[in-house]
Amino acid sequence: MNVVVPKLQPFSTGATAPELSLVVPVYNEREVLPMLYTRLRKVLDVLHIKYEIVLVDDGSRDGSGEYITQLAMQTSLVKAIRLSRNFGKEAALTAGLEQAEGDAIIILDADLQDPPELIPQMLQTWRGGADVVCMKRRIREGESWAKKASAYAFYRLLNRISRVPIPEDTGDFRLMSRRALDALNQLPERNRYMKGLFAWVGYPTQVIEYDRACRAAGTTKWDYFGLMGLAFEGITSFSVAPLRWMTGAGLVTAMMGALFGLWIVVKTILMGSDVSGYPSLIAVITFLGGVQLLSIGVVGEYVGKTYFEAKQRPLYLIRDIVQKKNATVKNVITNEVDCHVAAH
Ligand code: UDP
Ligand code: MG
Repeated sequence: MNVVVPKLQPFSTGATAPELSLVVPVYNEREVLPMLYTRLRKVLDVLHIKYEIVLVDDGSRDGSGEYITQLAMQTSLVKAIRLSRNFGKEAALTAGLEQAEGDAIIILDADLQDPPELIPQMLQTWRGGADVVCMKRRIREGESWAKKASAYAFYRLLNRISRVPIPEDTGDFRLMSRRALDALNQLPERNRYMKGLFAWVGYPTQVIEYDRACRAAGTTKWDYFGLMGLAFEGITSFSVAPLRWMTGAGLVTAMMGALFGLWIVVKTILMGSDVSGYPSLIAVITFLGGVQLLSIGVVGEYVGKTYFEAKQRPLYLIRDIVQKKNATVKNVITNEVDCHVAAH
């Protein structure tokens, strides 16, 4: 067994660099991994290119980490990276992307929601000159109406307020050229809202539409609060518009307050004063209190982001990287071995 000593820099690229790297973040996906591997091999082996599958275990607790390590020991096509704990998908992706050596890099989810069968088409588009091939979801099978509606609303909102246009209905499933990836790897921020970072990089981009499948097995790692958090993260990472909204809200309420005060003065002069008005007073106070707390919350969000950026902590820690050495090109482009691993 060849256990490569962990290192944060990519392995040296050169004559042996693969043409294609697949980067797959894995978190508790033990059930689907064999299926993923077999399907990837089926698609990739017939392409007759040199490729690598970079599997990043994001601190799984269901044996996924052990499984990918085993896979990497058996075949040089797989590079297994295990993180020291669960850092979240964005960090796992970042780890995988930093280790990917290919000229073209494709990111896909482990749960087979991003069909590997589209890889040849993506490669073709890349060879046609695109630096980035974005995969746009046509339909979202197996997702609730509420999730689809909220995703729709989120993308529209995000695009209205952010300066870099972020393509709608595209996830992380995409191909990137080496230079686009190098640019992405240079971005130092800790808050990695990937969709936004991809968009920030730019370069000639082609969009391919596809039908997103259901999860092959297992359950999604996201709940509604998680998704709302991600949406808020996306907005605050790419725009300071909420701060401006709060200024606007402050201005409007202040103006309303001034007009209300004026009206009370006029009313008192014309009709005298009775001491009633307690309910309206309470209403105004609670309303203003709410607006203030909300504004402080929004400001706090940005302050918090600055705080985390200022700490300059690494995005993830690597526990180990396993890669079988001495891969010959022959071994890579034929499929004589390995597939049996997937059956267990
Ligand atoms: N994932 C990860 N770390 C996490 C959560 C998820 O690496 O903390 C991976 C997961 O294994 C999968 C991908 O991110 O490959 C997408 O996750 P999921 O399918 O749960 O999200 P959804 O498709 O529902 O957006
Ligand atoms: Mg999924």
